[in-house]
Amino acid sequence: MRYTLVGSGTVVPDARRGPAAHHFACGDIQVLCDLGSGTLRRLDGLGLAWPEIDMVAVTHRHQDHIADLLPLLFALRHTPGVERVRPLTLLGYEGFARDLTLLSEVYGAWVLAPGFPLEIRESPDTPIEIERGDAWLEIEARRVVHSPEAVGYRLTLSSSGKEVLLAYTGDTEESDAAVDLARDADLLVSECSVADEDRVPGHLTPRGVGRVAAAASVGRLVTTHFYPSALALGSEEIERRIREAFVEGPVDLGVDGLCIDL
Ligand SMILES: [Zn+2]
Ligand SMILES: [Zn+2]
Repeated sequence: MRYTLVGSGTVVPDARRGPAAHHFACGDIQVLCDLGSGTLRRLDGLGLAWPEIDMVAVTHRHQDHIADLLPLLFALRHTPGVERVRPLTLLGYEGFARDLTLLSEVYGAWVLAPGFPLEIRESPDTPIEIERGDAWLEIEARRVVHSPEAVGYRLTLSSSGKEVLLAYTGDTEESDAAVDLARDADLLVSECSVADEDRVPGHLTPRGVGRVAAAASVGRLVTTHFYPSALALGSEEIERRIREAFVEGPVDLGVDGLCIDL
């Protein structure tokens, strides 16, 4: 079982940090949470088998989280040598199915009928399970405080008798909902958008991430989704602020390509 941070950036163009994208592997089950622009290229660069992804789960409509969704479907349909047979599940926020229908009216019927089975699900349809061999994965959506439709995801991965719980915030502000999303996770992947001095509604700061992680009793923390004001603090200061509340457990300040074996 492995977590790979594909994109640790935001809407801000940055050669080192792509927009939000997070890859979870459990046996040969693959789930991609969010896919901002450039995610497909990053997946290829990281050697991840994007033609075999089982599920794409998007957290909200913002383009730094969803922009590569149609490029993925288009690539699965038209890449020479790729002949997708197994179903692909697209999971999203409430209203996601309607969004895809509207996109199909603009771009063509292939959006909903790409030439392989497509299963479209929305957050109230969760939890959803995938099982293959001795590997099993369950994903559950929870509302977070950001845009009206925004959700985060809790993923349970089980393989060879071992089970781990992961939580991914998508974009969220400090809230009871964020703590509930992260509750008792072995690994929390949390946005850490802006410096505490520049706190804005809908996003977390380093001190806020630390408080959420501590209140939720998570085992390990990875921070991601850094805007320039957070990066300007420097990694030592970001970690110092997180550690004011989250004292125990490893902390990784995310970079693109970070891999954690679970
Ligand atoms: Zn974002
Ligand atoms: Zn957002």
